[in-house]
Amino acid sequence: MAHFVIVTSMPQPIKFTHTVADRFLRYVVIDTQSDPASPTCPSTEKQKNLGRLLASELKAMGLRDAHLDEYGYVYATIPATTDKKVPVVCFCSHMDTSPDCPGKDVKPQIVRNYRGGDIVLPGDRTQVIRAAEHSALAEQIGNDIITTDGTTLLGADDKAGVAEIMDAAHFLINNPQIRHGTIKILFTPDEEIGRGVDKVDLNKLGADFAYTLDGSSPGDIEDETFSADGVTITVEGVSTHPGYAKGKMEHAIKIAAAIVDRLPKDTCSPETTDGQQGFLHPVGISGTLERATLGLIVRDFNDEGLKEKEALLENIVKGVMQDFPRSTYRLEISEQYRNMKRVIDRHPEIIDYALEAIRRAGLVPTKASIRGGTDGSRLSFMGLPCPNIFAGEHAIHSRLEWVSVQDMEKAMQTIVHLAMIWEERTSSPVIA
Ligand SMILES: [Zn+2]
Repeated sequence: MAHFVIVTSMPQPIKFTHTVADRFLRYVVIDTQSDPASPTCPSTEKQKNLGRLLASELKAMGLRDAHLDEYGYVYATIPATTDKKVPVVCFCSHMDTSPDCPGKDVKPQIVRNYRGGDIVLPGDRTQVIRAAEHSALAEQIGNDIITTDGTTLLGADDKAGVAEIMDAAHFLINNPQIRHGTIKILFTPDEEIGRGVDKVDLNKLGADFAYTLDGSSPGDIEDETFSADGVTITVEGVSTHPGYAKGKMEHAIKIAAAIVDRLPKDTCSPETTDGQQGFLHPVGISGTLERATLGLIVRDFNDEGLKEKEALLENIVKGVMQDFPRSTYRLEISEQYRNMKRVIDRHPEIIDYALEAIRRAGLVPTKASIRGGTDGSRLSFMGLPCPNIFAGEHAIHSRLEWVSVQDMEKAMQTIVHLAMIWEERTSSPVIA
């Protein structure tokens, strides 16, 4: 007779370490700025300096397969500590920092036991993290806040995520009594220039599900991104000598300008929308009398919304063209990326377990949407469903960037709990 072993899942108290900030401070001083103008992968060789350090730290922890590959990706495996067939879960962060703000010679400082109020950065006193403008500071009273000296960005985006994953790996390896399935670690280059998963080897990674740690406020989990299209409108006008143009000339630049002018002004633009609303947004205009090209991006959270906005745009173009009967236009739509929710919703446990892990870390989970794209959305459509968990980073891509030590510790604990929950929720092996 077969019988089942019932495993009761009483979450036992865990004694967590407080080493994530030390790791973070080690990583942020390494310049890993990516460069959109570079054709290579990684776009900047210096990203490998951090990659090499991470691979060697992982090796020193005992992860024998830890390595940095030629494209600047770091892979490693934490072996399972259970007999159950637990899905292989990957934790992923990016190593590069934004090209929009200096990333060399980062000098981090820690404001211990933050008492509220503005934080003046010591290397450039015009740089002030104002409590009035950074509402998330109000939740950090008593915490230790890491900033720069005001001359560079901090790189908490996404070295907070890197440090949290490294610290969770170290913790799991040193606490083998904690049961979990096989865990994969992935650190990527060039996320900030939109090329973070170009050279990732998903076969080598061998994960079933993944989580990026690259979000902001403690407790946040993001399972939704924009869906995105690009539109190019090419206008062919009618050219004549300007001295003899009366009744003949149809100016392509003016036609393109008229299209931009008729775009919705009070709705449907980045500056008038938030939350779940999408928009139409011109990103480039160039031309001559004869021919002008107008580039736009279209954003929405679903395909119908994209289609509506594209139809609205085409109606505007047709309306303008009525005033220029001998001119013509061509409108081309290209897909850029799609909302990852479509993929993630097929596996509701990915989010359910993350919400539970966040709760066990002592936080209130909040589901949020990303008004942009992520590496996770691309990974999701490449076959690796990948929502985004908070890492604690704030005011990213700026000299005012900050992160709190306590938020990073909560993110690290969330990773550990998540690894345990995937094991707990996998049905027990049948004993004959
Ligand atoms: Zn990031």
